[in-house]
Amino acid sequence: VSSEELTRHYLDRIEKLDERYNAFITPTPDQALAQAREADKRLAAGEGGPLTGLPLAHKDIFCTRGIKTSCGSRMLDNFVSPYDATVVERLAQAGVVTLGKTNMDEFAMGSSNETSYYGPVKNPWDETRVPGGSSGGSAAAVAARMAPAATGTDTGGSIRQPAALAGLTGFKPTYGRVSRYGMIAFASSLDQAGTLTQSAEDAALLTQVMAGFDERDSTSAEKDVPDYCASLGDDLKGLKIGVPSEFFDEGLDAETGKAVETALDVYRQMGAEIREVHLPNLNLSVPTYYVVAPAECSSNLSRFDGVRFGYRCEDPKDLLDLYERSRGEGFGPEVKRRVMTGTYVLSAGYYDAYYLQAQKTRKLIRDDFIRAFEEVDVLMGPTTPTPAFGIGEKTDDPITMYLNDIYTIAVNLAGLPAVSVPAGFVNKLPVGLQIIGNFFDEGRLLNVAHQYQ
Ligand code: GLN
Repeated sequence: VSSEELTRHYLDRIEKLDERYNAFITPTPDQALAQAREADKRLAAGEGGPLTGLPLAHKDIFCTRGIKTSCGSRMLDNFVSPYDATVVERLAQAGVVTLGKTNMDEFAMGSSNETSYYGPVKNPWDETRVPGGSSGGSAAAVAARMAPAATGTDTGGSIRQPAALAGLTGFKPTYGRVSRYGMIAFASSLDQAGTLTQSAEDAALLTQVMAGFDERDSTSAEKDVPDYCASLGDDLKGLKIGVPSEFFDEGLDAETGKAVETALDVYRQMGAEIREVHLPNLNLSVPTYYVVAPAECSSNLSRFDGVRFGYRCEDPKDLLDLYERSRGEGFGPEVKRRVMTGTYVLSAGYYDAYYLQAQKTRKLIRDDFIRAFEEVDVLMGPTTPTPAFGIGEKTDDPITMYLNDIYTIAVNLAGLPAVSVPAGFVNKLPVGLQIIGNFFDEGRLLNVAHQYQ
């Protein structure tokens, strides 16, 4: 088929199905068809690469030139980006066609896509349930086959958790592997771009293009990008898999735990060696994250002042009124909660007790992983404690909501790469197996995920 035919196929599905799922904030059919025709020309001329002409959806956190980039917030509902994020630019250069921008939790703060200004997204496996978050629109778009693949971002689990709850492969590379330029910042020391796909092979193909040094992001890694597809067939005999006992705590749903055990058996049969390891400070990861992430977000979100871009309140009386009402009306409750917590933990008198303390516990968590990787090649465990929960079920209780990321958050604090792969079903709902790799060991990680599929 031509890229135009393929693109039309997905655009038709978006038009038919998205009323039901609310996965897209802004579909971009005209741009998509123009890009598809361009790709067809390149292909006819014998040019282009493996991704030329393939459609994809972008999380609405990535700046896209000339297209609304809302980040799921009223604050940016009127924002049309003047430039492309590096991720968007590199994929476009590879010939990828953009189908549209997907729904997400406001400024990526959430685990259920319920904090979006544009309303919740429904999980295609059960429409009464959440698709996870914050990349919930990307997950629902791929799960409902409105897009073959989508980009996402993961600050504390926002790629892996929705991938698990929607039955997909969600891949978060090492911190610094993919440029954050043009990706609206939530918590800059944790944010990382990645993919939601139907397979690890698709993740490898996309990451190949997305990864690599970018001089416009000072934290992007100056490291060569290996050929991720080349290692996809490597034998797993002798692979050392560590299973952190702390992942199998009382919070883990028994059936979800069983699905993970079954997956471990599959690796055992492939000749891998499985041993127990320990991450003794894992229980500190949620409290540490909920100091570090809000602290960074309070600083990052200070740029939304109603002056330069984004939402501005009506008839401000004076400058202070402009700031207060623009931010008060432009941000939703979860974002306000984070900005207030973050400002508090950074304020004089509390900085040492909270922020500095969190930096120390963050190091302890990271050191646990470094020690574990002296013994094993990858770590495995559940991605989430349970399958998808009901829409509205956890919205009144932020703490219960935060605990949904208990197995994913430590990985961001350490900066490691990790992937969630579908590991079967619990009560007809998908659950994920999480595989964590060593720093910049994405090639091996993707191969380990690939062999399971
Ligand atoms: N659910 C976590 C939070 O609310 C992680 C979000 C993310 O990874 N962007 O902060």
